[in-house]
Amino acid sequence: VAHVTEPDPRRRTPRTDVVLDDPRLEEAVDRLGRERVKESVAAVLARCRDGEIEPDQVVEHVVAALPGSASSLRRVVNATGVLVHTNLGRAPLSAAAVEAVTTAAGATDVELDLATGRRGARGCGALAALAAAVPDAGGVHVVNNGAAALALVACALAAGREVVVARGEMVEIGDGFRIPDLLESVGARLREVGTTNRVRLEDYERAICDDTAFVLKVHPSNFRVEGFTSAVPVGDLTQLPAPVVADIGSGLLAPHPRLPDEPDAATALRAGATLVTASGDKLLGGPQCGLLLGDAQLVGRLRRFPLARAVRVDKLTLAALEATLTGPPPPVVAALDLRRPELKARAERLADLIGHDLAVAVDSEAAVGGGGAPGVTLPSAAVALPHRLAEPLRLGELPVLGHVSDDRLLLDLMTVPPDQDVAIAAAVADAVRRSGG
Ligand SMILES: *Cc1c(COP(=O)(O)O)cnc(C)c1O
Repeated sequence: VAHVTEPDPRRRTPRTDVVLDDPRLEEAVDRLGRERVKESVAAVLARCRDGEIEPDQVVEHVVAALPGSASSLRRVVNATGVLVHTNLGRAPLSAAAVEAVTTAAGATDVELDLATGRRGARGCGALAALAAAVPDAGGVHVVNNGAAALALVACALAAGREVVVARGEMVEIGDGFRIPDLLESVGARLREVGTTNRVRLEDYERAICDDTAFVLKVHPSNFRVEGFTSAVPVGDLTQLPAPVVADIGSGLLAPHPRLPDEPDAATALRAGATLVTASGDKLLGGPQCGLLLGDAQLVGRLRRFPLARAVRVDKLTLAALEATLTGPPPPVVAALDLRRPELKARAERLADLIGHDLAVAVDSEAAVGGGGAPGVTLPSAAVALPHRLAEPLRLGELPVLGHVSDDRLLLDLMTVPPDQDVAIAAAVADAVRRSGG
């Protein structure tokens, strides 16, 4: 009797197009595109040729290897206690903003007046909502981000001229980008006044000359200087014979009782600032964008300036911004209303769900983060877990990001939408399982 040998796996390996046409991959091809699925098929077939995978298991392996969506960006749970987390995309959008983005994603009337059938003012709904939210602004405009707003102002007003700015306000925004470099990159010259810790109105007065384009007041939004310090408020700067541009950074449109030291657009404009610039995805809680608010004629000029076209926002941003301004409070704003007792009660319930062998509810301190309210802590509550779970939780199907403090992993609930608590409990159970109990 002839000995039956295993046939050569290379000869038993199915062909790529045969696998791709398998009905079990049809949905994936629709969702991810044929090319993306083909890459996974090729990788699995290579393992099949090596004899690692049986030919009849190929499709199962391809399905398991395929990503959930065509983008590599994953949904994660921000349990860091940092409301505006730069590495996690800053402000999460409200459900209303997400809905608006989805609607605008197709063909949309962003630049068409449906009533007349003629060209309409681009993004007029979002701009009207912004104007209504900041009645002190004579004119409003929206660009790609806060840095673009500043670059546009500097380029339009100060190319080849001087911007007077306090030394203590020469801020690095993050990732190595610095506001002074940004201004110089569009041709403005900086005229620094004062010292690192102190500046007086006379310092500004002495610096102003015929070449002064504007005085820039920058909110040091990511650090705090304590001790022997002084700065000049916007209201005093407006006595100077030059326009004042206030970069408030975080995008608060009006004062917030919980963030008394955080500058806001309405207050800066009422104090006499000619123009205010801010980000849309920090404390405003909206999409990434840059707001320009202030003198109507100046804003009109900026809107028509050539660089404005290069920093123009897309329809998705306009849609999300309008919904953020007119809809229910976005997550960042809602989080600022949360108090420790309700968060602690939630943390107790979540600890019950996870199991008290692992989890305990504790007090914690949340923060605004991401360029806003430096040094402000917000009393919050968290679930404390063994810190060894930090990595498996980060690597799970639904990555959960907490922060390690005193050798424990804290999952802070101020930054977590309440409807995610059950998913967190499941993610913890999964992380425990994968890390060997
Ligand atoms: C965040 C910030 C910026 C930069 O805004 P982006 O939207 O990140 O471009 C500029 N100035 C200040 C004071 C900021 O806080």
